[in-house]
Amino acid sequence: MLKAASVSRIFKRKHGTVKALDKASLEIKEGEFVAIVGPSGSGKSTLLLALGGMSHPDEGAVMWQNQSIYDWKITKRSQWRGSSVGFVFQSFNLVPYLTVFENVSVGLSLANKELTSTQSIESILEEVDLTDRKDHLPSELSIGQQQRVALARALVKKPRLILADEPTGNLDPDTGKEVMHIIQLQHAAGTTVVMITHDPNIAKLAQRTVKIVDGNLTCS
Ligand code: ADP
Ligand code: MG
Repeated sequence: MLKAASVSRIFKRKHGTVKALDKASLEIKEGEFVAIVGPSGSGKSTLLLALGGMSHPDEGAVMWQNQSIYDWKITKRSQWRGSSVGFVFQSFNLVPYLTVFENVSVGLSLANKELTSTQSIESILEEVDLTDRKDHLPSELSIGQQQRVALARALVKKPRLILADEPTGNLDPDTGKEVMHIIQLQHAAGTTVVMITHDPNIAKLAQRTVKIVDGNLTCS
């Protein structure tokens, strides 16, 4: 379904270059749940951004159902991303002056689905247990609730693929479990999940773990 084929990503800096990904190859099947682990600076986020169509590889290709996504026009790539890919980040990136409900509606507008599809927003807020907080601002929520809003924003369009970059990285263990429970339910419902984590206990929840060191991938 999603494939990185010999992807390299090189960042040029004042003092030399950094090879963040070095011919990384990875195949993710529809409905799989894959964890990516590796030390800080090893290229995990760079790989996830490349898989999500947000960072053009310097070499190699990213394939979605046998089509090379970086050969698509930018508009097609962003439409694909908006409708098929749900991103979840370690820092939740909520819009501070929008309510919970409005933050989630941003996820739908990116998907080109009706901006005010009230029903789908209400049903996802129920799934992440935030119905009674829908008129709150992010600053009025706990950290765990904020991450659940970010999840709802990613999930409201029912993406086929979830790309999560350390979704529990800023959470205490109990709140992290809640967030993982929601991700596991999505996987159980057939969504493909690729998740970066530092936590071996969280990686265990995936079906397969891929290790990355200095931009090199090893699958196990
Ligand atoms: P990880 O997520 O595993 O901590 P990253 O993928 O963020 O690692 O980064 C891998 C390497 O690439 C690091 O050395 C980082 O400093 C470098 N890097 C990442 N993004 C950029 C960028 N936009 N410009 C320059 N260097 C970058
Ligand atoms: Mg990272």
